Amino acid sequence: VTHTLRIGYFYPEHLNLYGDNGNVEILSYRARHRGFSVEVHNITTATDITLEQYDDLNIIFMGGGPDSGQKAMYDDLVNSKKAFIHQFIADGKVGLFVCGAYQLFGHYYKAADGSILQGIGVFDLYTEHFGSNKPRCIGNTYAKLTSSITDDPLFPKTELGTHIVGFENHGGRTYLGAGVAPFAQTIKGHGNNTEDKTEGALHNNAIGTYFHGPFLSRNPHVADYLIYKALRLTPYEVEQLPKIDDTLVIAAHTASKNLKQ
Ligand code: GLN
Repeated sequence: VTHTLRIGYFYPEHLNLYGDNGNVEILSYRARHRGFSVEVHNITTATDITLEQYDDLNIIFMGGGPDSGQKAMYDDLVNSKKAFIHQFIADGKVGLFVCGAYQLFGHYYKAADGSILQGIGVFDLYTEHFGSNKPRCIGNTYAKLTSSITDDPLFPKTELGTHIVGFENHGGRTYLGAGVAPFAQTIKGHGNNTEDKTEGALHNNAIGTYFHGPFLSRNPHVADYLIYKALRLTPYEVEQLPKIDDTLVIAAHTASKNLKQ
């Protein structure tokens, strides 16, 4: 068992809209409370990801950002980090990619100004922003997690059940191909594209989502799931872990289900 959660936090300087960095804080907090040590490695455009110190990362995170933030890290993602990320995901390690990052993990992202950014192709999907021709997808969200996650023996059985709550704000609309599963099924909100009720994407243990901000603070069951997967715990080991009092979080999560979109 690996007892250290080693988080690679990509591009904190460019992709941190609505406090997406809160996800890294929640992962760290919840892992530490279970007695695990935590290392957070900030990975910027200046980072040489081939260095040995990055071999042992067991979870990577990338937040959202406006088109300008995406363009600022784009060259580095494609030229310096793409091979690492592909290998990481192929190895079954855990990744969470929000909004602006998620969009760049598909085949391409067509930005509001019409320019096309080729994606790194981790997910079989593409995204198009229709500029002022279509309204942005904004508001509170509520969705049901895909069953391959909730059927996993490591998925925590809590009173939060199999649903997630969040907030989205994106102009890009994402369309999934046959080679990728949705992360969740939307109940409230636009999700990937408003049309097909899918939200986000799942490939191996890589998750893409439009749920912004400190998504994991509002969805501690997902946070714990990612930690258990990243550390490759057994269900027995999970049973032995100290519990965290989530009374307030559960109350907030439950209340959020009734927010207006
Ligand atoms: N620029 C992208 C869009 O508007 C991503 C925005 C975001 O990360 N919130 O679709």
